[in-house]
Amino acid sequence: MSLDAVLADIRACRACAGELPHAPRPVVRVSAETRVLICGQAPGRRVHQSGLPFDDPSGDRLRAWMGLDRAAFYGHPAIGVAAMAFCFPGTDPKGGDYPPPARCAGLWRAQLLAELPKVELTLLVGGYAQAWALGDLAKGSMTETVRAWRDYLPAFLPMPHPSWRNTGWLKRHPWFEAEAAPYLRGRIGLVVGG
Ligand code: SF4
Repeated sequence: MSLDAVLADIRACRACAGELPHAPRPVVRVSAETRVLICGQAPGRRVHQSGLPFDDPSGDRLRAWMGLDRAAFYGHPAIGVAAMAFCFPGTDPKGGDYPPPARCAGLWRAQLLAELPKVELTLLVGGYAQAWALGDLAKGSMTETVRAWRDYLPAFLPMPHPSWRNTGWLKRHPWFEAEAAPYLRGRIGLVVGG
């Protein structure tokens, strides 16, 4: 199956219809030239409305970590985004988003990744992406997995989610923005500038 065919099938997917609090709207942004793949959790409400991944304050923080402005983030062919689930799962009573529907990765992830042969670095943004990609190599918690980020190079970089909800986490773990984020900017610079 070609990448175009997989993307067409994903965009037409309605497998979670009736289980989501809204009609499915799959959001995925990759190309055959994708070299850095950003794998987050699932689109949030604002991304559900715009159809543009990380089109929110989380995206602003992620772009700062990557050293990219919006034009490069959305316009450079080497930068791609494919979350663990492609549709917004809805908001829970506490104001956070529900977990990504597990069905999505089971249906689509392996066949999508098979059509992205140029990916050299995958950003594992949050625990769901880390568990799926690292399996038994993930540590006992998201924090411990991210703390061991050097162990997963050069193919994977585990990261916290850039959500405002993790601002306290970032303050308690300053090594991430002091050490891992500069490394990330260096890798991105090699891809975007090279
Ligand atoms: S979340 Fe994934 S599996 Fe569910 S409807 Fe959207 S694209 Fe399909």
